[in-house]
Amino acid sequence: MIDRSTIERILDAAQIVDVIQEFVSLKKRGVNYLGLCPFHNEKTPSFTVSPSKEIFKCFGCGKVGNSVNFIMEHEHLTYPEALKYLARKYHIEVVEKERTPDEIEKQNERESLLVLTAYAARQFLENLFQSDEGISVGLTYFKERGFRQDTLKKFDVGYSFEKRDAFSKKALEDGYRQDFLVKTGLSIQHEERIFDRFSGRVMFPIHSLSGQVLGFGGRILKADPKSAKYVNSPESEIYHKSRVLYGIFQARKSITHEDRCYLVEGYTDVMSLHEANIENVVASSGTSLTQEQVRLIKRFTQNITILYDGDPAGIKASIRGIDLVLEEGMNVKIVLLPVNEDPDSYSRKVSNEEFIRYLRDNETDFIRFKTQLLLSEARNDPVRKANLIRDIVKSIAVIPEAINRTVYIKECSIVLEIAEPVLYHEVNKLRQQKSFQDRNKYPGPEDLPLQPPAVIKPVQHKTLSYYSEKEIIRLLLKFGSEELERHIRSEDGKEELMTVSDYIVREITSDDLSFNDSICEKIFADYKFHVEHGLFPGDKHFVKHEDPEISSMSADLLAESHELSRIWKDKQTFVETEDMKLRDIVPDVVLKFKSDKIKMRLDEIMIQIKEADKAGDTERVLALQKRDQNLKAALMMISKKLGNRILL
Ligand SMILES: [Zn+2]
Repeated sequence: MIDRSTIERILDAAQIVDVIQEFVSLKKRGVNYLGLCPFHNEKTPSFTVSPSKEIFKCFGCGKVGNSVNFIMEHEHLTYPEALKYLARKYHIEVVEKERTPDEIEKQNERESLLVLTAYAARQFLENLFQSDEGISVGLTYFKERGFRQDTLKKFDVGYSFEKRDAFSKKALEDGYRQDFLVKTGLSIQHEERIFDRFSGRVMFPIHSLSGQVLGFGGRILKADPKSAKYVNSPESEIYHKSRVLYGIFQARKSITHEDRCYLVEGYTDVMSLHEANIENVVASSGTSLTQEQVRLIKRFTQNITILYDGDPAGIKASIRGIDLVLEEGMNVKIVLLPVNEDPDSYSRKVSNEEFIRYLRDNETDFIRFKTQLLLSEARNDPVRKANLIRDIVKSIAVIPEAINRTVYIKECSIVLEIAEPVLYHEVNKLRQQKSFQDRNKYPGPEDLPLQPPAVIKPVQHKTLSYYSEKEIIRLLLKFGSEELERHIRSEDGKEELMTVSDYIVREITSDDLSFNDSICEKIFADYKFHVEHGLFPGDKHFVKHEDPEISSMSADLLAESHELSRIWKDKQTFVETEDMKLRDIVPDVVLKFKSDKIKMRLDEIMIQIKEADKAGDTERVLALQKRDQNLKAALMMISKKLGNRILL
């Protein structure tokens, strides 16, 4: 029993945003915070946290409560356990009444098992650092592999003695119950005797999100053909292989911060990446990824990057599981490591900077990767190529967002040399099959079959303003209705709100500028019409537009990681904080657009001057030169304003 005053102190200390943020990636929206609900599966966030009211509420599944309720629900803890959890977090000493033997007896099994695994982790740690055998065998192994002391401590690694019942015996002596030792899988009972499951192994504790030890992985150190190299805890009340990810406890903050999660295969891969300063990394511990694991990652980020060693057979086997990640609407990237290297070996071979650069430079979108991989295998064999197309179509079909499917269809049509309408047809056919819909139970309004674009676009010559034009349209579609600035009107003192679309339409109309790209021009005209009538068309208006050129360009622009971002020098910060920095970004993009237009005009003038000169029209030459100087002055001013934020 926890006394009343301690409970009050805990409740006072537990700031709800702080508590929940540890498990859910939250973004500030007005006075509240918003994130993806950890209690049900969702693609658009409806989980709201109110710091002023000290409550959370999910508008999707209806779960509601305060910080203690959240911990109870999320960590499957009882009320006193949740309070103790928060007390630990905020360093509050819990004054507890002595428990009666009866109460101890009633302690639920789950808690007992957790107490036991925590004890075991401490024992193994002690063995590794404080016993002769641990130091000479276990610690030497880690040192030979090049691990630093702080990394070993961070992951609480340990060592289990060689003697077949050393741990079990010690645990029984310390008062732990034999049935619990067997239930956690730490010990194996054979007739009357009890043995250690992990004897002679270095130990990797597997933590829950909140840092509780759920189970262990153990690696044997002796060359013994009869024993498996790695042994894991068996399934138990507390350990479910399919629901845990090794390293998630140590990675969760960094995953949120970096908005990306790296996935590797083994325990030591995770630890090595930490040593290379990459902390947003987890391992699925040898098993292929499960849906629960994907959802666990999804609470923190939508972006997952899988690191593969360069072994083609292994890759082919594991890419089958990745459709599962796509189904969850996550963005999957692949990094293929150099031949004969794994994340552990390669991160040690090169410097941290080189390693990070390698990951960044070799990241390939999953569907692109899969297409290339299968294509190189199929070569010119028509039967294999047909199979390959079916395979790729299956991967595209499971992607929940229509926009992303559109983008992939476009790309694959080029790479595979198959007409887009054919791919649309195949994808839609698959999505309409009953078996497919049963498996993907969350059809949204976006699930309407996609319309193939009726017009196959001719390849357009990219003008200088190609990217800035599209960037303007993208900002309109994505952020048109967002507030850009407020000011007080001088006439009547009323506050006036300027949105992103007000600004863009005003700037472009007042300078009488137009778009070279005919589809951009169409979208802009349509948008302008709406704005001038006080309406916001919204992105759906364009994505679902009856003109297929407009709908496909809109979908393309709204899809993430679009090539347009190439006008930005610092792409990372741009993408991450785009919506928060609209006030800087929008005027910059408009300036870039204007500067492109001026440059194009200058090119025209140059030709006109040459022509006028040839014709001997001095007056026209002078007029054109004057125009040329004015434009150059304007260009200079723009460049100054833009500084070096944009690639000019
Ligand atoms: Zn919910």
